[in-house]
Amino acid sequence: MSGQSDQERTISELGEFGLIEHLTREVKLNNSSSIRGIGDDAAVLDYSGRRVLVSGDVLLEGIHFNLMYTPLKHLGYKAVVVNISDILAMNGDPSQVIVSLGISGKFGLSQLEALYEGIRLACDTYHIDFVGGDTTSSVTGLTLSVTAIGSVEPNQVVYRDGADVNEIICTTGDLGGAYMGLQLLEREKEVFKSNPGVQPDLSGYDHILERQLKPEARYDIIRFLSKLEIKPTSMIDISDGLSSDMLHICHQSELGCKIFQDKLPIHEQTEKMGQELDIDPTTAALNGGDDYELLFTIPTSQYEKIEQEKEIIPIGHMTSKDFGCYMVSSSDHQIALKAQGWKNR
Ligand SMILES: [Mg+2]
Repeated sequence: MSGQSDQERTISELGEFGLIEHLTREVKLNNSSSIRGIGDDAAVLDYSGRRVLVSGDVLLEGIHFNLMYTPLKHLGYKAVVVNISDILAMNGDPSQVIVSLGISGKFGLSQLEALYEGIRLACDTYHIDFVGGDTTSSVTGLTLSVTAIGSVEPNQVVYRDGADVNEIICTTGDLGGAYMGLQLLEREKEVFKSNPGVQPDLSGYDHILERQLKPEARYDIIRFLSKLEIKPTSMIDISDGLSSDMLHICHQSELGCKIFQDKLPIHEQTEKMGQELDIDPTTAALNGGDDYELLFTIPTSQYEKIEQEKEIIPIGHMTSKDFGCYMVSSSDHQIALKAQGWKNR
């Protein structure tokens, strides 16, 4: 036999179809919209009169994640969650996910099982079905391609272009934490590289680490708003940072905005890490990304209904287009919001 490990031998023994069967054998269907899942040429879905929402993402090793500090189970979980977040940002109910993988030879069966365990956990947590995908070999590291599918009543879809002047801009949860968590992981990685004997010091930073490694999508907020019969006029999920995502709403609604630095929800661990690493927490909130909170606008008449909800934070209001898109700083300066675009981490 060759010098392959037991794990590698198991994958090659299973073959592509055996591997898929092995990894998906515990996948069960929970949604009535999932007529047929994994096991045929295509999944069969039934949405009877609802609008169908589809969103996709590709995640590349070395660009979007670093396996030195990202456990594969977490990666599988996060890959599904960030796509669910996009369906929620349309005010939709996520119901299916399709996951395709490019796997390099360095992965053993137990690692792929961990990745699938994360995918399954996310599906169970958000009550969605894993209904298909593909597995192929890769020469450049791990590649994940995720497509999420959901649905919404035709009159309940929320786009980015529906905001109006004077409407209140709200965000959820806290911002900048995921970016600060990433900086902490990067710092400890460098320490480990120069001195492998030193264990990483991550104590006291559970919140920002979780924000980076195991983010959650805000299904709770969508349900809360629906219960109160509040339909946001525009909405987006914060994946690229508040600044870029706010600008998407402004540009597509053909409006300006005024948000206030003092109103931005920043967790105490984000503040503390910012001091330690000399990174401005506001910059992390504006440009860090990966927070997967929701950013939306509502008419002022609806504000009373959400006023008591701590997880929904008003941060400013929409203005006319001529005003431009600004943040008013704590020292009362107007700072123009800038788009970051995609970044090569
Ligand atoms: Mg999005």
